[in-house]
Amino acid sequence: MAKLSKIGENTSYLKKQTYDTGLLYKSTVPELEISNNDLNLIFSQNSVQRQVTRRVKEHIHQKDEEILCKIHYIPMVLREKYGHGDVALDMYYLACPHPGCGQTVKLKSAAQLAAFLRRKEGRGIVN
Ligand SMILES: [Zn+2]
Repeated sequence: MAKLSKIGENTSYLKKQTYDTGLLYKSTVPELEISNNDLNLIFSQNSVQRQVTRRVKEHIHQKDEEILCKIHYIPMVLREKYGHGDVALDMYYLACPHPGCGQTVKLKSAAQLAAFLRRKEGRGIVN
């Protein structure tokens, strides 16, 4: 009889509140130890942007295990934005793979791209 109370217990699965952008980054990310201005200065170099966008592109359609859809609690998947016009900070985003789910997380700063690469490759933009 007491087992009836089991229903609804898995709501505690909300262990990762990754949607506050601050939590998109682990505390050990070196990109956070330099100022955002410095990072943007580094990222403004065309050679750096080319390298970063090429590296990120290799992970298209892959899951980002640390960013979960806040509705489905499943890892979001890297997508390339249609018609981005080669603007590095407007090229990629994470989307929930669940059919019909419209949840997305934009990767629209150098720090977010760096954090993404660090999660996937263990190496960000600056080392
Ligand atoms: Zn979803």
